[in-house]
Amino acid sequence: MAKLIVSDLDVKDKKVLVRVDFNVPIKDGVIGDDNRIVAALPTIKYIIENGGKAILLSHLGRVKSDDDKKELSLKPVAERLSELLKKPVTFVPANEGQEVEDAINKMQDGDVIVLENTRFQDIDNDFGKRESKNDPKLGEYWASLGDMYVNDAFGTAHRSHASNVGIAEAMKKADKPAAAGYLMEKEIKFLGDAVANPVHPFVTILGGAKVSDKIDVITNLIPKSDHILIGGGMAYTFLAAQGHNIGKSLFEPDKVDLAKQLLKEADGKIVLPVDNLAATEFSNDASREVVGDDIPDNMMGLDIGPKTVEKFKEILKDAKTVVWNGPMGAFEMSNFANGTLEVGKALAELKDATTIIGGGDSTAAAKQLGIAPKITHISTGGGASLQYLEGKELPGIACISDK
Ligand code: AMP
Repeated sequence: MAKLIVSDLDVKDKKVLVRVDFNVPIKDGVIGDDNRIVAALPTIKYIIENGGKAILLSHLGRVKSDDDKKELSLKPVAERLSELLKKPVTFVPANEGQEVEDAINKMQDGDVIVLENTRFQDIDNDFGKRESKNDPKLGEYWASLGDMYVNDAFGTAHRSHASNVGIAEAMKKADKPAAAGYLMEKEIKFLGDAVANPVHPFVTILGGAKVSDKIDVITNLIPKSDHILIGGGMAYTFLAAQGHNIGKSLFEPDKVDLAKQLLKEADGKIVLPVDNLAATEFSNDASREVVGDDIPDNMMGLDIGPKTVEKFKEILKDAKTVVWNGPMGAFEMSNFANGTLEVGKALAELKDATTIIGGGDSTAAAKQLGIAPKITHISTGGGASLQYLEGKELPGIACISDK
């Protein structure tokens, strides 16, 4: 059933609790990349432009001791948010207690406040990790602060924490709505709906280091995909399963039988590299050469080769839905980035196709290439997007009210 969305809510005069994902890189109080703050703006703007009061909750990093608190305060994030919204944003240096309640009681319609890092609740108490282990009392307390709840934090949707699941459950118990924000809505539309009911031909591209990280994604997508293109380190366990020599390439010996089984199940849908860019060691300066699908004993495959790029492009050209997760090689080293960059370009050139990039390193590659605007959807969640592609129900989405 379709989920309740923030735009379904009448927020006028209402205190709206919003779980955002402000888990941005911060060093010495300086934000390295504000993408996640920018991504939360549509939901926040909807609330304040329609006369609601936005009370924002987020985690930031991992809080293990009091020493972490200075570096992991959300204060700089509130300041950046104020610049982006071009209006004052109140930062409250707590997320529980009188100070929080007073600040909320003082809010006027259209105001925004940011409460302190929810993971500050993971230390200094009898329960232990109240936020990360979802202390129901904490969820109930946060729910008591507002009239409605919006979850826009897709990046944590695969986790069951007090500030996403606990609070939503408590809201629903109190007969108050728990809706998805715009960002969450987009993730559900593309990673969920578009992948569950793809327009064919549907091509899945998988790469990255390990088969073991992507087994459930492959298993879930085999029946749905017309082709599964596999590159990156994980391709070598598949090539080994086919009896090829893979030299010193990344290899998971305990996954060879599984790779054989997946190849059989996929019945020709899995397409593996036909050539590789191999090197003598894992270094950008190592001596390198293009080899076929057998890698010499003293070398390791670090990128897909030019024939493979052409083969993948040929398959992609007719695709109507594409999901891509994981680089085609060790793309952080410029000499082994070509396969990943070419696949990214091929996606950007597709017309009339829904193209979805499933978080992590492929997102970094898309940004590096400047193709992000040409991709239909780039997921904001790494772990969450993988679990979604595995076909699993994410607790942070499951807890949202149905329409
Ligand atoms: P993942 O997090 O599973 O998506 O894996 C991404 C990492 O895999 C990147 O850091 C890449 O450098 C690495 N990687 C991709 N292909 C290879 C390869 N052929 N050999 C070694 N590492 C690789």
